[in-house]
Amino acid sequence: MEQFYLDTPKEGFIDITAKVKEMVKRSQIRQGICQVFIPHTTAGVTINENADPDVVTDMLAALEHMVPKLPFRHIEGNSPAHVKSTLVGCSISVPVADNNLLLGTWQGIYFCEFDGPRTRKVFVQVVGV
Ligand code: ZN
Repeated sequence: MEQFYLDTPKEGFIDITAKVKEMVKRSQIRQGICQVFIPHTTAGVTINENADPDVVTDMLAALEHMVPKLPFRHIEGNSPAHVKSTLVGCSISVPVADNNLLLGTWQGIYFCEFDGPRTRKVFVQVVGV
């Protein structure tokens, strides 16, 4: 199990693919699975297009639109960020082959910040042989 820290903006998708790939290399696992887990309740992790940066901008806009402006009860005032975290999810897994992530050509791994700026933690676990 490895971990790293991220200093995040107020809101945004941060490409962490290179960092995760580096950890897979270091693990020396040839065949297996890589799990990325975010131990936070107002952030998430997802896989999506890494070619056109407008895609992640559009996803943030869509998530903003999906979460209604309700009279939320949570005293901290960040319930929309909690809801977005649950919509996106807090973990992903990617197959590992030849000591590399089996991502598609246009796939990148994104840390999703919904309530920054903060220092966030990311766990990466590679299991296999
Ligand atoms: Zn809260």
